[in-house]
Amino acid sequence: MKAIIIGCGIAGPVLALALHKAGIDSEIFEAQKSLDDDAGLFHYLSPNGMNVYNVLGIYDKIFNLGHICNKTILNDENGNSFASFDEDNSMNEFGANSIMIKRGVLTKALREEIIDKRIELHFNKKLKDIEDLGNKVIAYFEDDTSAEGDFLIGCDGIHSHTRKILMPDAPKPSYTKLVMAGGYARIPSKNHRNSMIYANYCKRAYLAYFILPSGEVWWWNAQSYPEEPSKADLQKITDKQWQKHMIELYNEDSSIIKEIVQSDENDFMKYPISDMPPLDTWYKGNVCLIGDAVHATSPTNGQGAAMASEDGVTLAKCLRDMESSQKAFEKFQELRKERVDKIVKFGRRNGDGYFLTHPVKKWFRNTMIRIMTSPIIFYRMKKDFFGYDVKWDEKIG
Ligand SMILES: Cc1cc2nc3c(=O)[nH]c(=O)nc-3n(C[C@H](O)[C@H](O)[C@H](O)COP(=O)(O)OP(=O)(O)OC[C@H]3O[C@@H](n4cnc5c(N)ncnc54)[C@H](O)[C@@H]3O)c2cc1C
Repeated sequence: MKAIIIGCGIAGPVLALALHKAGIDSEIFEAQKSLDDDAGLFHYLSPNGMNVYNVLGIYDKIFNLGHICNKTILNDENGNSFASFDEDNSMNEFGANSIMIKRGVLTKALREEIIDKRIELHFNKKLKDIEDLGNKVIAYFEDDTSAEGDFLIGCDGIHSHTRKILMPDAPKPSYTKLVMAGGYARIPSKNHRNSMIYANYCKRAYLAYFILPSGEVWWWNAQSYPEEPSKADLQKITDKQWQKHMIELYNEDSSIIKEIVQSDENDFMKYPISDMPPLDTWYKGNVCLIGDAVHATSPTNGQGAAMASEDGVTLAKCLRDMESSQKAFEKFQELRKERVDKIVKFGRRNGDGYFLTHPVKKWFRNTMIRIMTSPIIFYRMKKDFFGYDVKWDEKIG
């Protein structure tokens, strides 16, 4: 069997590596001319995502490229902590730790593994069309070339062209009314601890930060933005203009938040946030969708990259164990859909809580968060989210 993989973000290379482990060939086709390893922000990768790298034998490599994350502290609009959750026992509980890692560092590390395993990776191959002939699939690219395989997997992200070809009537990504921005800052404050996320429900928006031992601050925020801007619209706003806007947005918040948005080191990256409404079917004939292409979630739950990684190994396992690709796709959807639908819903709900202005609603939100992060409830939630085990060595019956 040979797989045609469209997209080399996270789902694509993880799938190719897992297929390689299962003894199945693949070729990856990526639209971009080359991948910019400095582009994008950073990902929080929780133990469930990291455990995928355990399956692929690259846990240590990825772990050493990131920064361990042991705890999250949630602060209210006055800068007072109202809840927290620990992750310092994750290795014992789930066999992996959580890390923060730059997106470019993660994707580069995955690509190095692809090269190491001699899996073919082609750049500048933007998918234009797909022909499913029953016994094989042909992918056509915008440069007038084509490629053949036994099946094709769309790993081409939230605006997936594979999805548009496969299911032209499927629901489109849905805008969450949030714009997220982030960057790298240096601040004068010293009274903070490393390896922890400080999540701040500020007066008018949300802002979280993570401080590295070097003193560099990785931060991201989310704010209400009712009318959906395009990425291009956001890019037209200069760093100076955006910084002015951020300084005004947080001018009633704690001094550390002000220091972060005022930092001259910032190179503001901004993203309109959408998620995917649940799709009834994830495959058709010899073509299947995985990762953001089928279940993009708002980054407010820090699970998108982990879900894309879980998908990659789960689908490879299904293809290894089932008698046909169609049966494998069916099994894959059966194994994954309930989990990812729940996580997408959770992300949407988190985001809605970021821009409350009414004091009673804020009080209710904080109380709910306090209850959810209480040890017993949070342990159950952690087990559900972080304890996902792909059970690679067990054959699907
Ligand atoms: C601001 C922000 C913050 C985030 N933070 C986190 C976080 O903290 N933790 C986390 O787990 N997740 C986070 N995510 C989500 C995470 O980035 C995605 O869920 C993850 O990248 C999905 O992986 P993917 O491979 O499915 O898609 P992508 O990573 O989007 O990769 C898709 C690839 O397909 C290529 N492509 C697109 N169209 C075509 C085409 N026609 N032909 C060929 N190739 C094509 C693209 O160039 C790209 O390389 C965040 C997302 C955003 C926007």
